Amino acid sequence: MTEKRSIYLDHAASTPTDPAVVEAMLPYFTETYGNASGLHSQARGSARAIEQARQQVADILGCAPQEIVFTGCGSEGDNIAIRGVAWAQKRAGRGQHVITSPIEHHAVDHTINDLCESFGFEQTVVPVDDMGMVNPDDVAAAIRPDTVLISIMYANNEVGTIQPIADIGALARERGIPFHTDAVQAAGYEPLDVKVLNVDLLAISGHKIYAPKGIGILYVRQQTPLTAPFTGGGHENKRRPGTENVPYIVGIARALELVQAKAGVENKRQAALRDQLIAGVLRTIPNSHLTGHPARRLPNNASFAIAGCDADGMLMHLDLAGIQAASGSACTTGMPEPSHVLTAMGIPRDLALGALRLSLGRQTTAGDIETVLDTLPSIIKKIRQLNPAYEAAPV
Ligand code: PLP
Repeated sequence: MTEKRSIYLDHAASTPTDPAVVEAMLPYFTETYGNASGLHSQARGSARAIEQARQQVADILGCAPQEIVFTGCGSEGDNIAIRGVAWAQKRAGRGQHVITSPIEHHAVDHTINDLCESFGFEQTVVPVDDMGMVNPDDVAAAIRPDTVLISIMYANNEVGTIQPIADIGALARERGIPFHTDAVQAAGYEPLDVKVLNVDLLAISGHKIYAPKGIGILYVRQQTPLTAPFTGGGHENKRRPGTENVPYIVGIARALELVQAKAGVENKRQAALRDQLIAGVLRTIPNSHLTGHPARRLPNNASFAIAGCDADGMLMHLDLAGIQAASGSACTTGMPEPSHVLTAMGIPRDLALGALRLSLGRQTTAGDIETVLDTLPSIIKKIRQLNPAYEAAPV
């Protein structure tokens, strides 16, 4: 009997490390392992590898290598950017007002909440429409004389909506306000030229782009006011202390090169599969809704709200059928809470509890999509049959 293929549709949560990335990293575990701050030849080998990686990343982002900071993850990059700029601006007496959106990852929104609760900052959260889009006019209208930072994500992790980053960046630049974007989900698919995007700070995470977990990149434009939140040695241009993780730095630079080089072909291939998946789900499952923007969405994101279903039930049944997926909502101590992203988009609570995110990747095949389309409708039917409220009034 041949073993059933496991179908991994959770690439927005994490990707497998590309073997070419592992290969690039390997010499830096056992051959070139010196502390890059040292003066001997082992150390110089590590320092050279870091500077080469920094140049590779800078070439992709269209910036100077000294504007690249290697971090521990996407969350850390967001924290250094947001806390660092907010504190520097406050210290310089420029104000303490921050603008953001209601659909940010917790790495951003919890950080801004903390600035407000613990450090006296104020925030304006501009709305999103029912497709999860921020309107740049709303950002412009929210700007005050004491606004010191704008933070709007490039692409959303739950529904895949891609924001008009260059437009928001242009209006921030005009007014001299630093603009940060969380590009963790976008980096694997979208262009990253920081001059085209008009961003001052941009965060990337390794494990979303086929590099390992525990490494990230933060772009900080020269002249951006930033007080490093961590203290220690002067590593990473005094932005992020700590002995550099050389193999992982080499790995994320290689991964970024590969993912951006493959984007031309992979974006088209994955978008075609995604569209097939979306059309199939909407056709075969009554009362299922696409969440996020129908066109301006990541090529690998198919996200839905399925009426009459709880997310955990769907995920459990899918997993039993060999399909690994995710929901948009976090469940704490058995009390399901709808996703803040979906509720900000105006999706009613009950419907938001039926969130299902299928995120494709390099190894996703047309056969995988067919299997999902063959499997999902009967799972949904089974769950709904056990939901008396839905059976009584299906919506
Ligand atoms: N920002 C977004 C949009 C994300 O999707 C994630 C991870 O899910 C993060 C930030 C955090 O990245 P990391 O897991 O590298 O800390």
